[in-house]
Parts: sequence; C-alpha cells; structure tokens
Amino acid sequence: MLLMHGSIFDGEGLLPPGHALLLDGRKIAKIAPLAAFEGYSGPRADLTGHTILPGLIDCHAHLTLGGELNPSEQLQRLSHAELTLRCIENAVTSLSAGITSLRDLGGVDHVEFTVRDACNSGRIFGPTIRAAGKFICMTGGTNFFIGRQADGPQDVVKAVREQIHAGCDCIKLMATGGVLTPGVRLEHAQFTCEEMTAGVAEAQRFDKPTASHAMTPQGVLNAVRAGINSIEHGVVLDDECIGEMLARNVVLVPTLMPLHCLIGANEGGVPQWAMDKAHWANERHRKSFKAYYDAGGRIAMGADTGTPFNPHGNSAMELQHMVDAGMRPIDALKAGTATAADLLRLEGRGRLRDSHAADLLVVAGDPVTDIGRVASRQHHRLILKDGRPALDRLGLSANLEPSTGTALGRVSF
Ligand SMILES: [Zn+2]
Repeated sequence: MLLMHGSIFDGEGLLPPGHALLLDGRKIAKIAPLAAFEGYSGPRADLTGHTILPGLIDCHAHLTLGGELNPSEQLQRLSHAELTLRCIENAVTSLSAGITSLRDLGGVDHVEFTVRDACNSGRIFGPTIRAAGKFICMTGGTNFFIGRQADGPQDVVKAVREQIHAGCDCIKLMATGGVLTPGVRLEHAQFTCEEMTAGVAEAQRFDKPTASHAMTPQGVLNAVRAGINSIEHGVVLDDECIGEMLARNVVLVPTLMPLHCLIGANEGGVPQWAMDKAHWANERHRKSFKAYYDAGGRIAMGADTGTPFNPHGNSAMELQHMVDAGMRPIDALKAGTATAADLLRLEGRGRLRDSHAADLLVVAGDPVTDIGRVASRQHHRLILKDGRPALDRLGLSANLEPSTGTALGRVSF
C-alpha cells in the first residue's frame, strides 16, 4: 500500500512536500519522492490533509495501575490473575490511542513481564513493551508498597540483580520523595549517593539502562553523578542539575501529565497534603522543564500513565502539556518518537525509515502547527503496529496486514 499526498514527520523533522511511503507487510519498504514509485501498481491511499508520523512512545507508564486514587489499597485487593488482565487491557488501550511502544517503570510482582512477552511476541496485539520490574527504593520510600525496598549499597545491588534475574529490560531507582506517599517530602533525597552509585553501576555491568524518579536537586544530582540515563519528573532543576545533566547527555522524561490530572481532579477525594504538594510542584515543574529545553537538553515523552486520574489511553496529551509549557510542537513530536526510541533502545522503531517496522500514526491536519492533532485522539485516523491496524478510520484495512493475536479490551470511543 502506497501512502501518498500526506505530510510526513519522520521522527526528526518534516520531509519536503511530495514524499510518499510504501508499506510492505510489517515493514516500511521505502520513503521517497512520489516520482520514485512510478512503476508501482498496487493499492494507494490519498492522504491529502493528513500527516503521517511514527507511532508514539510513552517512556513512563505503569501497566498495573489504572488511574485509581489509592493504588496501594486497590493492589492489595487484586489477584495476580486480575492484575494480568488489567495489564493486557491497559496495553491494548494504549495501542489504540497511538502508543505503539511503551516502557513500564514500576510493576507489581513482575506480572507485567508476562504481558510484555505476550505483546512483544505477537501473542497479544499490543504495543512493544520494555519493563523495569519492581522499582527500587529505600525502606519507606516513595510508593514503597509496590517497590523492592533496599538499604545500603549491597542490598541495592542485590535488588538490581533480582530484577535482572526476573527478566527486566531496565532498572528504576527512586532518588527522592514523591507527591502521593504520606510523610515523604519531595525535597528529601532518599537513596544516598553511595546507594545510587552502586545500583547504577550494577545495572551498567549487565547493560541495562537506568531511570530515576527524581523530583528535587540533591536526588537529581545523586542520580546524574551515578551515571543515570534518564531523570523522571525533574520537578525542581537548578542550574547545577541542568549543567550536570547536559554534560552527561541525560534524557529528561518530564511527565507533566500526573500533576495536571491530580490538580484537575480537585474534588476527587485527594487529601489536602497531597494537593498542597501537587500545587507546589506544578509551578516549579514547568519552569524546570522549560529551562532544560532552552538549554538544549534531550527530552522524551512519558505520561506516568496509570497514576491517579491518569488512566491509560490519554498518554498523547503529554505532548499538549509540553507545548503548553513552552516547547515547539515539532520538538514535542520528536520527544514522543525518535528521542523516546533512543532512550528505550528500540532498534528500527520511532523513526520512519526504509525497512523500519511499520509503526505509524496518521492524523487529520497538521500537528506541527497544532499539537492537538496528535495529542487528542479524536483526530487520529490510522494507527498501525507492525503494519497491522489498531485503528482504521480511513477504511484501508482490506489492503493492510490482518490484525492477529488476542485483542482483549478493545476500546471504543
Ligand atoms: Zn511513575
């Protein structure tokens, strides 16, 4: 199938007008000026007025969480069988909202690994998934109820080895307090410099990339100096943090969504202490994000999907929040595709290139002038994962790879 007459954002930038994209089964066969396809006689789709992009990548999701206010309470009630179903539903829902790859940064008892393997092998029609397993935190640290609590460098090393043994793709370490854990302050660093350094070094020995939940400067610096690959959240970044992050080419995954959702929930039963923390953090967060962006720092999209009032299916709204906080739409699109693919080490995805996987999002209109065209699902027209339609409002399915594998929880909206 030849997709022609649409604009093409290839993950890095807009191609000159007049390019077309040829699909061949599960792959992109070729992207070239339309004239290069002169002898082609197969099916064609006229995408005038549409834009073709790589499928989006959510670098910070929690498949086991469903947006409930009190995840610890919920999770205690759910069996592993129920949690597994929930992971499948959330993965499928994300795909149907344009997320063709995602990274789970904190699951429950490794049930998400089974779902990851089923999606990655095609047994379930879902996104490509990378997963950290249990995040590692100090005793009583942020969201400790689902984490692996570890104290002292030796125990942190053991906790990293446990995740690797269970089959993780990456390691997540909690550097500071969080918004929703009672009695935990955002400005406190949690793991010491020695603990963080030991954890990152152990992950690096086995070639596992590392991510750190880090809200405030001391924790950010501990993580960055230890050699972390990505800072998650980065609510308060001072000049020293920004300098050190730039020097080490650290990716910021800002996750602006969860604070937005929490503050927007206003009447949703959020305790006052959590709401106070959220307001305190939100103002600073946008400034820190903009400062790192203006300084030329690498930024990837992550929506912290699954956190309170932030259910799966809306991750692309993170792009809108990044633009609202001062990012150019074209850079937000890159953050949600090419930069995210690099962070997750997704070979052959995240960019539209010859012979890459046919992970595509087609939207009506021009997201380079209006990011809402991608951020808001109502404008999505076609979503392909490995060439197979997860959404088709263009009526092209007859000429595409059939969707195989179990597709539980297919959402309609
Ligand atoms: Zn998270």
